[in-house]
Amino acid sequence: MPIKETNYWLETVTTPPAQPARELPDSFDVAVIGGGFCGLAAARALAKRGLSVALLEAETFGWGASSRNGGMVLTGMKLPVPTLIKRYGSETVRKMYAASLEQIDCVEQIVREENIECDFSRCGHLEVACKQAHFNGYEESAARVKREFNHELRIISKSELRAEIGSDIYYGGMVDESSAGLNPARYVAGLAQAAQRAGACLYDHARVTKIEPEIKNSARKFRLQTSKGAITAREVILASGAYTTEAAPALRKKIIPIGSYIIATEVLPAPLARELSPRNRMIYDSKHFLYYYRLTPDNRMLFGGRAAFFPETENTVRQSAEILRRGMIAVYPQLRDIKVEFVWGGTLDFTLDVMPHSGKIDGMYFAAGFAGHGVAAATWFGAKLAGLICGDSNDIPFDGIKFSAAPLGLRSGHTWALPLAGAWYRLLDFFT
Ligand SMILES: Cc1cc2nc3c(=O)[nH]c(=O)nc-3n(C[C@H](O)[C@H](O)[C@H](O)COP(=O)(O)OP(=O)(O)OC[C@H]3O[C@@H](n4cnc5c(N)ncnc54)[C@H](O)[C@@H]3O)c2cc1C
Repeated sequence: MPIKETNYWLETVTTPPAQPARELPDSFDVAVIGGGFCGLAAARALAKRGLSVALLEAETFGWGASSRNGGMVLTGMKLPVPTLIKRYGSETVRKMYAASLEQIDCVEQIVREENIECDFSRCGHLEVACKQAHFNGYEESAARVKREFNHELRIISKSELRAEIGSDIYYGGMVDESSAGLNPARYVAGLAQAAQRAGACLYDHARVTKIEPEIKNSARKFRLQTSKGAITAREVILASGAYTTEAAPALRKKIIPIGSYIIATEVLPAPLARELSPRNRMIYDSKHFLYYYRLTPDNRMLFGGRAAFFPETENTVRQSAEILRRGMIAVYPQLRDIKVEFVWGGTLDFTLDVMPHSGKIDGMYFAAGFAGHGVAAATWFGAKLAGLICGDSNDIPFDGIKFSAAPLGLRSGHTWALPLAGAWYRLLDFFT
């Protein structure tokens, strides 16, 4: 059977999709652009607090990164703690780290409150060391996280590693029990339904093409042109992540869109699945050009990585299947004769400083830069932006940190330098 070039998660969604609203009234309190975790969490929270909300999604709800990812709901941030402290100081980083833990609670709470059947489970994550030097750094890392944030990480020596992973290629690991896993396509479908139940008007196939400020009766508003007609809104939230278009040029030039690709095998026999991941962890390795992998609830091995740095196209998806299969077999030789059934790709929203950012840009609220932490972060940022619009005090520690534009060549629409960035990271992986 040929490999299906489709997103495996989508085949597991059983809940009916949220029903798009038909009429597009003239005016709303808030227009949210983007129907992923961030936009839908914002729309749900705003509607629950009584505001009129239009969520405008260019494709279908969850079409972007939110339905395509690994479903790893991770603690921490992308950058190592010493780098963060050097940049922002201990106190700010303490708040950032606390926010990263709160983000997982936020997802868990929404899943519970809205009864979203998405296999959410606090199964913990395992980082595995590709080199002895990486493992040597884990002890110091865990001690620092304990000291600075009072958060527990457990070091796993090479001799203990078989209790965590059925592979002998790593030098040891580090476990964080607070992380979780879920089925992202089911989660985002449930979130769309929840936003709709709360009273938000969701519009699919409603691409925003232009946003202009407008002053009417001395009140400031925004006028949005969409493929379904024009609307005005008092506030706008840009929740378009890596897929941000020219409708929001100031944000677009700050985002570095990076492709990531995933394969999923056929369903594995239960004993083999247990051997590969005895504790069903969310697993990733210690390289810059990393692999991330996990079992699905029906016991497939889902194996992802940056097989190509470019945002997904038919070609990059096809090429990725073989590259990722080779990577998977290097980790798990036991899977040599197992069929790969699915391959798909998606685009991550990186920023130059590899940090999430939020705030206002051209008078509009935005949050972006979640990189590989967006399952928890995008949900939380969406809810937080909604709170700000409703008058909550601003306690987002990432708000206002310096947010530079991406260099030309790495920006959306102009990504010709991405292979160079890819080569640089491969070089770093070789030497460090
Ligand atoms: C392959 C892959 C694996 C990943 N794995 C993980 C993981 O395991 N754990 C983790 O935490 N994170 C992971 N991520 C990252 C995570 O998926 C994202 O950070 C998160 O989904 C971002 O959510 P979002 O709502 O900000 O954006 P998205 O889900 O990308 O949604 C943005 C939406 O905006 C819409 N849009 C854009 N422009 C317009 C416009 N002009 N008008 C209307 N609509 C517009 C797009 O159509 C899109 O649907 C992964 C990402 C990928 C691609």
